[in-house]
Amino acid sequence: MSKNEILANITIEKLIFGGKWLATAPDGRKIIITGGCIPGSLVDLRILKAKKSHYEAQELRIVKKSPMEVPLPDGFQMYGGAKWLTIGYEDQLNIKTEQVKESFHHIEKWINEEQTSLPVFHPIIASPEIYGYRNKVEFSWGKYISAKEDIHDEFRFGFHAQGQFDRIIDCTYCALADTETNAIFLEVDRLSRDSGYPTYDPKTGVGFWRHFVVRRATSSQELMLIFSINSLYTDEVKIFFMDIVKQLTEKYPNIASIYFLENTGKADIVTGNPVLLFGKTAITAELLGLSFEIQPKSFFQVNTLGAEKLYTEAISFIKNKWGFLLDLYAGTGTIGILLAKYFEKVYSVELIESASRDGEKNAIKNGITNVEFVCWKAEEFAKKFLEQWGKADTIVIDPPRDGMHPSTIPSLLSFWAREIIYVSCNPATLARDLEVLIGKTRDEKSENLPKYRITDVTPVDMFPHTHHIET
Ligand code: SAH
Repeated sequence: MSKNEILANITIEKLIFGGKWLATAPDGRKIIITGGCIPGSLVDLRILKAKKSHYEAQELRIVKKSPMEVPLPDGFQMYGGAKWLTIGYEDQLNIKTEQVKESFHHIEKWINEEQTSLPVFHPIIASPEIYGYRNKVEFSWGKYISAKEDIHDEFRFGFHAQGQFDRIIDCTYCALADTETNAIFLEVDRLSRDSGYPTYDPKTGVGFWRHFVVRRATSSQELMLIFSINSLYTDEVKIFFMDIVKQLTEKYPNIASIYFLENTGKADIVTGNPVLLFGKTAITAELLGLSFEIQPKSFFQVNTLGAEKLYTEAISFIKNKWGFLLDLYAGTGTIGILLAKYFEKVYSVELIESASRDGEKNAIKNGITNVEFVCWKAEEFAKKFLEQWGKADTIVIDPPRDGMHPSTIPSLLSFWAREIIYVSCNPATLARDLEVLIGKTRDEKSENLPKYRITDVTPVDMFPHTHHIET
């Protein structure tokens, strides 16, 4: 079979990496499917690529619904950021659990042979809220122009069409944002459409409206709004925004801070020079009893209540709560700050300088003095730290999706730390890194370094209705 041909009556089998799905073609080749699917459904697929080993395909139509399919809740809209809205939540949790278990399959034999006690695979921890759980929602302005679909819409406000940087789908209701954020979004939708200013065109770099971000401090309900605009803050723009600020703040008293972001760069990201239009420079989020300041560009876990569950679980695994703690890939230092009271000294290591600086402020805010914030690459810091101090009793690692840089692991092992807590957002790279930590794959240099035992594994769902899973 070749490109564009139809594979009829195929059953979607399971979730694999990166939110893709797996099925089997009649000729025995595996099919990797991109986009929204529901396991157990019978579908027709269009072949995008035919390779010797497998096909890549896209769902064309559903022939028979999966038993996992549930109706879309009233008023909700399906979009790229929440592709699993029509999969029942219990089923979502099962799919994610299976995925984590599967990533451990190829090291299972090794674990069974080498470990005297087997790891405990704990039940998945569900997100406390399954809708409206995001404390940061980013909407985009733009166009949707397609001759093929006969659409020529110059003003759109919502989310990017799946994989298309220059096409925007209008949002009617974002299921992952709370109701107040949705109401404010609709108000801004109206104000921006009435403004006469055009949306930004990424192809030409011309236009005005770019992104709108709403950040919420879960405990106090304070909101921060950020308008990312392709313009400098001129007098004309200033007058225009003063009116917007007045209308929004009169109607929504939870708005504590509004920023204008002079975003004239080419890249489709929320960046630029922030100008405070209204209220406070930062809002304050609470997490497990500690306070964290959120500036427009600060990193903060997007599901606050979910993050509390994740951190509580990670902390509960630590038996050696004394001595030196290394918190690698620390972001704004949240984990290290939460753990500081147990340790003599915490080293919070993060690549992005602004995140590291925010961490420093957060520690001060909470009266914590034994955390040192180091803005360095984890792989370099681990080596340097080892040469200088040679000791870390407990290590927490929370790397991005790609997992740890290979050169980090030998240094980590050289600490002979009693415990390593690995927080992962990608089961595939987690399994790959664990393989080295437990000694299944080792190079000559790390041959004689300690081999770790896996004791506990817990999947945590921080992102309902998406394929993302923490472990
Ligand atoms: N532990 C944090 C967030 C982790 S997200 C929390 O719980 O909030 C992963 C972090 O790793 C990001 O902040 C990213 O900037 C950082 N990072 C990515 N590569 C890195 C590297 N090579 N060295 C150190 N930090 C890195």
